[in-house]
Amino acid sequence: MPVRDAKLEFTEGTAMKIGFIGLGNMGAPMAANLAKAGYQVTGFDVADVDVEGVTKAGSAVEAARGADCVITMLPNGDILRALAADIIPAMAQGAALIDCSTVDVESARAVAQEAENAGLLAVDAPVSGGVGGASAGTLTFMAGGSDAAFAKAAPLFDVMGQKAVHCGTAGAGQAAKICNNMILGVTMIATCEAFALADKLGLDRQKMFDVVSTSSGYSWSMNAYCPAPGIGPQSPADNDYKPGFAADLMLKDLRLSQQAAEAVDADTPMGQMARDLYQKFVETEDGNGRDFSAMLPRFEKRRRS
Ligand code: NAD
Repeated sequence: MPVRDAKLEFTEGTAMKIGFIGLGNMGAPMAANLAKAGYQVTGFDVADVDVEGVTKAGSAVEAARGADCVITMLPNGDILRALAADIIPAMAQGAALIDCSTVDVESARAVAQEAENAGLLAVDAPVSGGVGGASAGTLTFMAGGSDAAFAKAAPLFDVMGQKAVHCGTAGAGQAAKICNNMILGVTMIATCEAFALADKLGLDRQKMFDVVSTSSGYSWSMNAYCPAPGIGPQSPADNDYKPGFAADLMLKDLRLSQQAAEAVDADTPMGQMARDLYQKFVETEDGNGRDFSAMLPRFEKRRRS
């Protein structure tokens, strides 16, 4: 039974203690959901954020000390590594360090190693589902770590999400995340350029959607997150491309995918091209601050060269 449904069984004083570090767009609603489910959550963010039900700590070390599980939700691998070096010595033996940020595979593995050397359990567990999923408690977790570490984190994943996949050992969660998002970046670009081509061929967008969404070109980008305004289910395209999933976050994930591909000598030409296009879109065009599906108006305005 998901922990979400079992919350009445918690009695005061017996709930697991959670330290939650990084209470931003994603971390704040995730921490709030844990508190709502009956966990004792102590949170810390350098930005001094208030989250309902979460006790504020004065430092990351204070949030981590005495916790059964520490969850981190941070911007990148460098910040994670620095923070981990601070909090690992303060954590109790057998406690779990669960990093839900999207970071490079190398940082995830280095932090897990450091945690295990200190007698802790470690899980890298990046998420899919965005801010909406974090608020609704419907995230998907992709996790890397030992069976014992995953088992300790699983009840928390049940509260914060709808699905958790144990992908393998340390770093496997991050590997799954960047492979998934590389597919997403590539298919979003393909969907947008196809819509722009269809426009120029005089094909009605609704007809294009009706065909592709039920034919072999279908994808999450087309069917669930259609980049054309007024077509398909509600998506950021219907809200002037306000994110949603921001183009700069897609760029971050595509960069991570290419960093990983270089490290293991994998040939990923489509991923590389998607990285280059999103980089141009965010850094030199009008993509910064817009949803990643705003590639469609970008293609609309362009000619072949
Ligand atoms: P965010 O910038 O809103 O939140 C990050 C938070 O970390 C900020 O509040 C910041 O103040 C805090 N922080 C930075 N350094 C810190 C430190 N040393 N100690 C304590 N707090 C610190 O970002 P977000 O959107 O919440 O994303 C968090 C992570 O989740 C990122 O790795 C991102 O790639 C990933 N992610 C985001 C989404 C999304 O849709 N926003 C979706 C999936 C995954």
